[in-house]
Amino acid sequence: MHRTAARLDTLAGATVVRADLRHPAVAGADLRGARLAETRAHGKHLLTRLERDGRRLTLHSHLRMDGSWTLIRKHRDDGRPALPRHLLPTLRAALTLDSGVSLVGLGVPVLELLETRDEHRVVGHLGPDVLAGQPTATQAAFDDDDALRRLRRDPSRPLVEALLDQRGVAGFGNLWAVELCFLRGCWPWTPVGDVELEPLLALGRRMITHSLEHGTGMTTTGVKRRGENHWVTGRSNRPCRRCGTLVRFRPATGAPLAREVWWCPSCQRAPATRQEQARASG
Ligand SMILES: [Zn+2]
Repeated sequence: MHRTAARLDTLAGATVVRADLRHPAVAGADLRGARLAETRAHGKHLLTRLERDGRRLTLHSHLRMDGSWTLIRKHRDDGRPALPRHLLPTLRAALTLDSGVSLVGLGVPVLELLETRDEHRVVGHLGPDVLAGQPTATQAAFDDDDALRRLRRDPSRPLVEALLDQRGVAGFGNLWAVELCFLRGCWPWTPVGDVELEPLLALGRRMITHSLEHGTGMTTTGVKRRGENHWVTGRSNRPCRRCGTLVRFRPATGAPLAREVWWCPSCQRAPATRQEQARASG
């Protein structure tokens, strides 16, 4: 999301000359004459700030899986951005700027306009942003203590689910959560209270920061080539890159935060259950 924020941030200073807002939550809002200010991200939430008539407004969006913000430079005779016809049904917002560019939101599921001073209403529940400190972040520094406290709030929670809960730390998607469990040798369902979280968080932040700064995308192995860019994600029944054991897979269950999980049963051992311990010692 910080990559998108950086792209939108380049538009700061331009004025909206035409606004077409079709998302039900903002339909009818008139942004003509508003000046675009900075765009910031917090986890997966985007905050595009505007000024109009001395008021500071924020266009808050969340792209989930399919939404996108695109810059369109070509326009039709009537001034609308020249979108391919098949994309028109997904159009949720188009802000045409005096710089000759249109900022177009396609398939954006969450879009709302609020006073900038009320941003806490939409991001206040989130944990520290993994990319805090980046130029596009709302937070100047990552608050380790706050993150640890939030992640350990329910110590019995499976690690992989705690990492995905944006109220703990904001910004780990499924890929990062799954790969971090592998890299730290943790069975994904280890109770989060039993996990050494400091090095895991530091590693996660380092990897995501590197991928943002170097444009390497979501590689965790350091290799960009498809098929070689992840340790376990997407590799069910293929040999673990580290030990050769077949990688296992659990599909998403539909429960909140129970996403697809891949893990190596050798590199990421489950803690022994009491029965197993009893058997081993008996
Ligand atoms: Zn392994």
